[in-house]
Amino acid sequence: MKAVLAVVCLLFLLPDVLHSQSSDAELVNVKELIPDIVLDLKYSTVVNFTAQKLYTTNECLLARGMVNRLAVVQDSLRARGLGLKIFDGYRPRAVQYLMFEIYPDPNFVADPVTGSKHNRGAAVDLTLIDLATGAELSMPTAFDYFGDAAAHGWTIGLSAEQIANRELLRSMMEDVGGLTRLPSEWWHYEHAPSTSIPLYDFQMK
Ligand SMILES: [Zn+2]
Repeated sequence: MKAVLAVVCLLFLLPDVLHSQSSDAELVNVKELIPDIVLDLKYSTVVNFTAQKLYTTNECLLARGMVNRLAVVQDSLRARGLGLKIFDGYRPRAVQYLMFEIYPDPNFVADPVTGSKHNRGAAVDLTLIDLATGAELSMPTAFDYFGDAAAHGWTIGLSAEQIANRELLRSMMEDVGGLTRLPSEWWHYEHAPSTSIPLYDFQMK
């Protein structure tokens, strides 16, 4: 009888589990869920390492599981007068091919054959800003700096403030649970469950 009850319970619970997994993986518009998050998608301008405009808009898409966590981080930051600014989120796979053609170093640009977690909406590049002024907090390097100083744990030549700001971003992102850092880039975080999302190749509208 207990076994029958367990099966019945499982049948009731299963659709909920499946639903929450699939909605976590759905790509959503970040601004619609976090209206005060600042977007500065570098690849929608020519100010990036390719010196080309690679996106048609400044719209940012990410997996819902990631966005839900960013909303929690943004709430905590807001209480301190700070906020998040996003440099990149979902990235079409065709853009990944172009980037790799220009900078074919898999230490810094993911090979498009296997794809980047950005192509799945499972990775975000971001920094901290002062909410009142919009100014970026001082970080160890600029975004997309291809060198050792971009790595977590790097201290040579950095000010105490730059190290503290990098650590603040890291602790806020990691404390929410489910987000992991990339050791070589202080600005890049991933939502591991969303890495099962397929590689997409559509432009944002
Ligand atoms: Zn990234």
